[in-house]
Amino acid sequence: MPESTQDQLFSLLSDQTINRKQFTFHGDPLPSTLKTPSKLVVLSSGTPNDGFFPINSIQLGITKKPHTPTSESFAIEKHANEEDLLDIKDAFQYGPTEGHPQLLKFLKSFINEVNRPKYDSWDITLTNGTGDSLNKVFNLLVNPGDVVLVESFTYKPVLNNIVNYGGIPYPVSINYGIEGDHGIDVEKLTNLLENWETINPDKKKPKALYTIPTGQNPTGLTISQENRAKIYELAKAHNFIVIEDDPYGYIQLGEYTDGIHNVYDTEIPYKRFIEEILPSSYIQQDNSGHVIRLESFSKTFAPGSRIGFIVAHKRFIKEIIKYAQVSNRAPSGISQIIISNFINQIGGIKGWIDWNIQVSKAYTERKNVLLKTLYNSSSFKKGQFNIVEPKAGMFAIIDINFPNAKEDYRKDIEELRYKILESGVVVVYGKNFAVNDDIAKGSKFIRITLANSVDTDQIKEGGEKLVEGIEKYFESISA
Ligand code: PLP
Ligand code: PMP
Repeated sequence: MPESTQDQLFSLLSDQTINRKQFTFHGDPLPSTLKTPSKLVVLSSGTPNDGFFPINSIQLGITKKPHTPTSESFAIEKHANEEDLLDIKDAFQYGPTEGHPQLLKFLKSFINEVNRPKYDSWDITLTNGTGDSLNKVFNLLVNPGDVVLVESFTYKPVLNNIVNYGGIPYPVSINYGIEGDHGIDVEKLTNLLENWETINPDKKKPKALYTIPTGQNPTGLTISQENRAKIYELAKAHNFIVIEDDPYGYIQLGEYTDGIHNVYDTEIPYKRFIEEILPSSYIQQDNSGHVIRLESFSKTFAPGSRIGFIVAHKRFIKEIIKYAQVSNRAPSGISQIIISNFINQIGGIKGWIDWNIQVSKAYTERKNVLLKTLYNSSSFKKGQFNIVEPKAGMFAIIDINFPNAKEDYRKDIEELRYKILESGVVVVYGKNFAVNDDIAKGSKFIRITLANSVDTDQIKEGGEKLVEGIEKYFESISA
């Protein structure tokens, strides 16, 4: 990467980041000329000997498909004699801020194969999940008064992460119609950036764009490859970072079929899943360091693991690690040993992708059952709503066709909400994800989750109750 590109990239770092000192533990380095006995007795370190740990082994019963019984079990030991296995002695001890080498090694080879940037000086650090990554990334970049672009409907907690550093979240329009482009409206974004000084004379040009490119929360939508490429070019041209938050990317929902049968009925080789089914991420186009990618084990392993990771330019990763040293120090070693040895046990990248395929298959069945229920309903046939089909993730939205177009739907949505609750189903409304009140007013969609239900029967029941509620609402307004 040319030095001028790097200088421009590093100009985006926050003052807090630039001023943070490198922390050195116990101070003094050993002089290189010093002659020491080959074996040093350690009386320096406050790390309890592993004999103090109350657990000697952990038995993991694993399942190869969601919602199925244990098909295999294995033990994690205190003294694993294999290089790729993390053992209890190390995992239960204080660990490296960036994560234990076994899990990091896996993630580096995984990213190399699945989501590799187009430059060499990238790196990875583990975090305590994407919620934690978001705090770290905005700490890295944001000075008070800095602008961060966000999708007009987004994962709401991120706004607090931005405001926490004095940043200003600024909404960009997204398309979520049943036809046409999905995701960020590139034309509007281009226009906004090209005319920033005229449109926002009192605001600095944006430092970052926070986006959920695949299976977006709340819309469930996935932005096209062409638009990803255009947005990346904008990031380079206007020198801002694309923060790609992708917790849903590995959950790929096949095309809608009328029933539970789907693309996953025939076995998909893991290489094909990687090469043909997964969309190419922003970071796979990145040759300039302008993308920071956030991944999480929450959706495809377990949210309680609190493990995620960041892929970015190695300078950015270095600065994030310095911040982690003054905040949460390191992700849980106990979580890491379970994830790391589980993935090792199921066969590394192939095994992990195979599990993601099984998760994708289960979500695809749920999505098809839900869509079938909705499409077959009399409410849909009467044109009371549109469905925006998701290609990835765990969310779908349905847009209500209120009889009169309005600027403010909030009262109507509130009445609809009561009818839907009376029918016995809980959903969330687009307005709850709107970046500001104006956007909330114009919102008339419902977000449905495929994740919480026990099975497809419950999804079907939920879908039936939902359409019943919608129909009752329409009856009530025509009465
Ligand atoms: N980012 C988005 C877009 C999310 O929807 C979520 C939770 O679903 C998170 C981040 C939080 O992820 P984590 O559990 O890894 O903190
Ligand atoms: N709690 C936390 C901390 C989360 O990150 C999420 C996922 N977004 C949830 C709960 C579930 O929230 P939602 O229903 O919006 O997906």
